[in-house]
Amino acid sequence: MSERGVYIGRYVVPKDREYYEIRNPADTRQLVAKFPKLTREDTRGTIAIAKDAFLKWSKTLPVERAKILYKAAEIIESRANDLAKLLTMEEGKTLADSMFEVIRTVNLLRFYAGLIVKDMGKVIPSQDRNTIILTTREPLGVIAVITPWNFPLSLPAWKIIPAIATGNTVVWKPASITPTIALELVKAFYEAGLPEGVLNLVTGPASEVGDELVTNREVDAITFTGSLQTGREINEKVGRQNRFVRIQLELGGKNAMVLSKNGDANLAVELTVRSAFGLTGQACTATSRFLVPEDMHDEVLSKLIERTKKVVVGNGLRQGVDMGPLASREQYEKVLGYIEIGKNEGAKLVYGGQPIKGGEEFDYGYFVMPTIFDQVTPDMRIAKEEIFGPVLAVMTYRTLDEAIDIVNSTEYGLIAGIITRDISEAAKFAENVKVGVVKVNKPTIGLEPWVPYGGVKGSGNDIYKEMGEEAIEFFTRIKATYIGY
Ligand code: ADP
Repeated sequence: MSERGVYIGRYVVPKDREYYEIRNPADTRQLVAKFPKLTREDTRGTIAIAKDAFLKWSKTLPVERAKILYKAAEIIESRANDLAKLLTMEEGKTLADSMFEVIRTVNLLRFYAGLIVKDMGKVIPSQDRNTIILTTREPLGVIAVITPWNFPLSLPAWKIIPAIATGNTVVWKPASITPTIALELVKAFYEAGLPEGVLNLVTGPASEVGDELVTNREVDAITFTGSLQTGREINEKVGRQNRFVRIQLELGGKNAMVLSKNGDANLAVELTVRSAFGLTGQACTATSRFLVPEDMHDEVLSKLIERTKKVVVGNGLRQGVDMGPLASREQYEKVLGYIEIGKNEGAKLVYGGQPIKGGEEFDYGYFVMPTIFDQVTPDMRIAKEEIFGPVLAVMTYRTLDEAIDIVNSTEYGLIAGIITRDISEAAKFAENVKVGVVKVNKPTIGLEPWVPYGGVKGSGNDIYKEMGEEAIEFFTRIKATYIGY
C-alpha cells in the first residue's frame, strides 16, 4: 500500500482524489509513496479546522505544550535511523546529512520546549504610582507553513515547532516531492499527544493548495522558504489583498567564500568543497562563489581540483558517499542548463560539467559531477543567479575591499565566509558584507538551531529571524497591560 494520507484535523487517505508518485531521485525505479493532490476547497476546509483548534490550543499552558514537544523529541530520536533512511530515499542526500536533519529536529523540539516555559514578556516601571505595566506574548492564530524540499525535515521543523510551542495552529504544505518525511514528522507530534487540528498537513499543487494558503483571509501569518521568484509572488499576492498579515520569506543565496592572502589555503579548499558539493549544492547556505587572491590563483585552483576529485558521488544510502543525486528531474535539467550557460558566457570549465551515467548505481538517478568554473567574472549569470546545484564559480580579486564588493554584488545576501588568520581583516569583512550570517574559518553550510538565521536583500524579507529565541517574535504578538491598584 503506497498510498499515504494527509492531516485534515486527523489522518485521512482521501478516496476520491488523484494521487501522484514520489520516486527515489537516486533510482527512479523505486516508488517511495503516493500522495493525494488536494484541492483549493480541501485546503480551505483545513484552514477552518486549524482555526477552530486554535481556540483550545492557544489556551493550553506552556508546560503542557512543552510536555508534548519533549515526547515528540523522544519519539523522533527513537526512530532516527529509519527516518534518516526514508529522508535519503525521498530527497537523495547522504545518510549522514539526513541524520543531521533528524538530530536537528530533536534539538529544536527540546530547545523550544525549554524556551516557552521561560519569560515571555516583561514588567515595565510605570510613571504613575500603584501601577504595574506588563507585556505578554500571545499566539497569532493559524500559521501557513510552506516549505521547500532541500531540507524536508529540519527546515519545516524550525518553523512548525516554535509556531506550535507558542500556541498557534499550523497548516503545512511541504514541497510536492518530499511529503513522505513530512508525514512522519506530523505523525510523531500526534503520537506525542498533540490534540487534533493543531498541526495539519496538506499535499497538492502550489497553484491550488499553496495559493489558497497564501490568500485565505483566515490565515494569520505565512512563513515561507523557497525561491526568490516564489517569494516575490507571495508578497505581491498578499499586498494586492491589502491585508495586514505577517509574512516571513526566506529565499535563496549566492554565498561566497573568500580566501584571504592571510588565510590557510588548504582549509579554504576543504571548507569550500564541503559547502559547494556537500548536499549536492542544494542548500540555501551552499558556497557557490570562491574568491581567491589573484596571485594565489594557480596554486589554489589545482588544490581545489585535486580535492574535488576525491568527492564520492553516488546513492546516498551507500556508505562513503559524499554527494547524492539532484533531488528531481527539474533540478537536474536546471543545473545542466546552467552549466551550458556558464560555458557560453566564456567561463572556463575546469572540472566536471557532465551528468554521471553507467551501471546500476547511476543510470536511473539524477547524478551530475561536481563542477568547477574558473575565470568567472561578477557580471556572468553563473556568478549572480542561484543555481542550487554542485556548481562552483572561482573568481579572483586583488584587495579585501574589492573582495567585499564582489561578495555584495549579487541581489542575494544570505551568508558570506572568509578564511583568514588576521582578526582585523575578519572583523572588517564581517562588518561590511551585506548578509545575515558571517562565517570566519567555518563552512558556509551548517547552522546551529539556537542561533537566529535569515538573509537580507533578495535572500528574505528581513523582518523576522528564524531559529534561536528570535523565532518566537514572528509567531507571537506583544500585548501591553496596565494594571492600577
Ligand atoms: P523550490 O525550488 O524549493 O521548490 P519554490 O519557491 O518553487 O522553490 O517552492 C517552495 C515551496 O513553495 C514549495 O512547497 C512549493 O510548492 C510552494 N510554492 C510554489 N509556488 C507557490 C505559490 N505561487 N504560492 C504558494 N506556494 C508556492
